[in-house]
This record gives sequence, C-alpha cells and structure tokens, in this order.
Amino acid sequence: MQRSSRLRANARTGSLGLARERRRVRQNDDGSNDERDETEGDSRLAEKKWLSWAPTATSSPFPSFPSPTPADCEETYHMLNHRHRATIEEEFKDPNTPETIPHMLDAIMGSVFAYEKIVAGGRQKLEDTIRCGGLHVRKSTFITSMLQQVHERHGNWDLDYLFDATDEQAMKELLNYKGMGPKCAFVVMSWCLKRNPFTVDTHVFRIAGLWGWIPEKTTREKTQAHLDATVPKKLKFDLHFLLIAHGRTCPACRGGSKSKESCEAREEVNARLRTREESSSG
Ligand SMILES: [Zn+2]
Repeated sequence: MQRSSRLRANARTGSLGLARERRRVRQNDDGSNDERDETEGDSRLAEKKWLSWAPTATSSPFPSFPSPTPADCEETYHMLNHRHRATIEEEFKDPNTPETIPHMLDAIMGSVFAYEKIVAGGRQKLEDTIRCGGLHVRKSTFITSMLQQVHERHGNWDLDYLFDATDEQAMKELLNYKGMGPKCAFVVMSWCLKRNPFTVDTHVFRIAGLWGWIPEKTTREKTQAHLDATVPKKLKFDLHFLLIAHGRTCPACRGGSKSKESCEAREEVNARLRTREESSSG
C-alpha cells in the first residue's frame, strides 16, 4: 500500500488512542496482519530510539574524554562570536524562525497551518502547494505523517502540554513520532520548549571532529550527547549557532573542503589541546 493511502486508511479507523489501542481496533476490524505488524514495528522503533538515547540523557557517553573543557568552550565562544555574530543576528531577524511562533506543533512544522485542511487535502495537494520551497516531497511526507500521528495519539493537534513536561518526558514523547530522530527532537527541545540542549547538526558534527572535541569514528547522536553534557549551559545556544555559521563559511572547516587554508580558530583549539596533553603527560 502506498504511504499516502495508508495514512488515509489509518484516518478512517477513527482511533485516536495510543499505539496499543490502535492495535486492538485493528484486531476487531477485519484488520490485515500487515497493518498490525506495522503498528508493532512503529512502537518497537520508538522504543529503540528511546533506549538508544536514554542512557546518555544526562551524561556523556565518553566520560573520560578530556575535550572540550568549559574553558575550551568559553574561549571558542569568544573567538567565534567575534567573527560570526553579525551573521547570526541577521538570521534571528527572520520573522519566520520558530522562536516567534507560540504553539508547539506550529513550531515543529515551521509555520502556522490550518491542520484540518491539510489533512483533508492529502499529501499530494500539500506537496504541490509547497513545491517552490524545495525538498517538497520530504517535507510534505513529514508534515502529513506528523499531523496524522499527533491526532492519533491525542485526538487533536495540540502539543502545548509538552511545555509542562520534564525534559525526559518531552524527549520520550517526541521520539515516539516516526520521522523524528534525536537531532530533530533536540531542535524542538531547544527552539520550542526552551530546554536549551546542545544540538549537533552536520556542521557542528564535522567541526567537533576536526577540532578534536570527540573521539574518532563516533556517531552524531553520541557527539550530541557528549557535547550536551560538556558544553556549559549558558553557552549552548550561542555556541550551536556560531559553530554552524563557522561551518558554513570557513574555507578550511566547511563541508567537503579540500582547501589548504588554515583556520585560526581551529589552530587555537588544537593548540589548547596539545598544551593540555603535554602538561598531563609531563
Ligand atoms: Zn575554520
């Protein structure tokens, strides 16, 4: 069954409860094994995402890894702030940033929508509507699926109760949604819920590797957990955006760079690292 027609089929069952209840409804219907398996697969996937994230919720997966220290972060913040502050301020002026949108689900979707109309219109119509923005297939699939899932779990499109949830509860709820991984959930935690986790996107991940802030050959999820545990709280928000600005513009640190140009910031960070290694070994 195609994804879109499967979503419509789910809507027709009218079941608005949790995954367990959806299973029961399907069994009472003539419900095919396919759909039951899919629902079971969904909860297993949500459980798996949660279990892989939960152990590092409050501590680094590399507790003995020495970098970055709070002083490294402070130093880096000053270096990058000097170079990239203007760029970041320009970005924050955009009235469409999620921070200015009051409700949780609007913020996840990135805009204030008439959810009912979107669901009624179906994925294809949404895809056609947002085509000019790029990545329209991925976006429309994600939006339709999120709306469907939120309505199935809660009976409405209101996630504002997450404002009162603990970090752990909020993260667990967010990871329940198909298409919502730890990175996306962290962005929601940061932008919408103001929980201030340190978010690692592709630029931050690359720079953390280049600058020796993570062990070699680690994953982005573990990098996020490590940096969330090590970057001082007051610097998390700014440092995240400064590192992205740096990762986009520095000829030596940007993605796929073969440039032999040196990066002053990176050299300074590496020099701090060397000094520390020398003093600890000698
Ligand atoms: Zn650089």
